[in-house]
Amino acid sequence: MSSPPATPDPVRIRRAPPRFRRVEVSRVEPITPRLVRITLTGPELDGFALAEPAASVRLLLPASSAEDLVIPEWEGNEFLLAGGRRPAIRTFTPLRFDADTFELDIEAVLHGDGVASRWASSAAAGMSAAISGPGRGYTIDLDAPAFLLAGDETAIPAIRQLLEELPRATPTHVLIEVAQPDARFDLTGRADVAVEWHDLEAGAPPGDALVAAVRATALDDGTRVWAAGEAAAVQRIRRHLFEERGVPRPQTAIRGYWKHGRAGDDHKPAP
Ligand SMILES: Cc1cc2nc3c(=O)[nH]c(=O)nc-3n(C[C@H](O)[C@H](O)[C@H](O)COP(=O)(O)OP(=O)(O)OC[C@H]3O[C@@H](n4cnc5c(N)ncnc54)[C@H](O)[C@@H]3O)c2cc1C
Repeated sequence: MSSPPATPDPVRIRRAPPRFRRVEVSRVEPITPRLVRITLTGPELDGFALAEPAASVRLLLPASSAEDLVIPEWEGNEFLLAGGRRPAIRTFTPLRFDADTFELDIEAVLHGDGVASRWASSAAAGMSAAISGPGRGYTIDLDAPAFLLAGDETAIPAIRQLLEELPRATPTHVLIEVAQPDARFDLTGRADVAVEWHDLEAGAPPGDALVAAVRATALDDGTRVWAAGEAAAVQRIRRHLFEERGVPRPQTAIRGYWKHGRAGDDHKPAP
């Protein structure tokens, strides 16, 4: 008996993410030798709005400093340029947005190797980019008894934003891993928030110091955990919390922000 012909996998069509809005750099402010704040502005930011902290935006950049910015088309599954080339798109945390001046701040880690890191390290007023988003952020449980925020340098902008929004009376503990000691700075004016900085040892995989810090931190029942950073490291944090500590998953929000050894083009639609 002959077997029925195999049905080809249906081509997955995903809902188009929010359109790209053209912007240009209006200000650049170094925060540490490892982190720079870039203010983006442009009339196309009219109607952009931020609802929750620790959300995301896609930043579209020219493929190289020699190229003009070209807005890609959504091809059902990903953004593509003419000829099927993949555009340079990276994900950042949208910080302050001023709806009167159409100014949006992002902060980029200067880790050295990557389209966005290189672009950020030479960012200057007038440079072109485009923004799509925002994607969903973190919904704060106002009744939570305590919060633990843990992340590497890429999570610093989101952590700072979360600290502004979390209820002041709720005990909050912050763990941050930095690749260099000069990435540390005064993260919050809040004396009531314990911020622990942890240095990554030379040669250790990214996230190693963060995972150790989470393991060493006592968690009261009901503590909400928000964590973000290198994908394999946050996976270790997930496993530790769920399997060794029995933390209920709904009390956690744990996100991979980048992958060690992999360029982070992110073409997925906003959740
Ligand atoms: C929801 C979300 C929010 C984010 N918010 C921010 C933010 O506010 N600020 C921010 O700087 N990043 C943020 N990130 C992370 C950022 O998108 C990635 O770090 C991205 O890969 C940087 O792009 P790139 O072009 O510089 O490097 P890529 O071209 O993506 O990568 C090149 C190489 O550099 C490595 N690499 C990438 N990032 C780092 C890093 N931080 N440290 C060391 N090596 C790295 C890669 O593994 C790869 O080997 C966020 C990511 C997500 C998903």
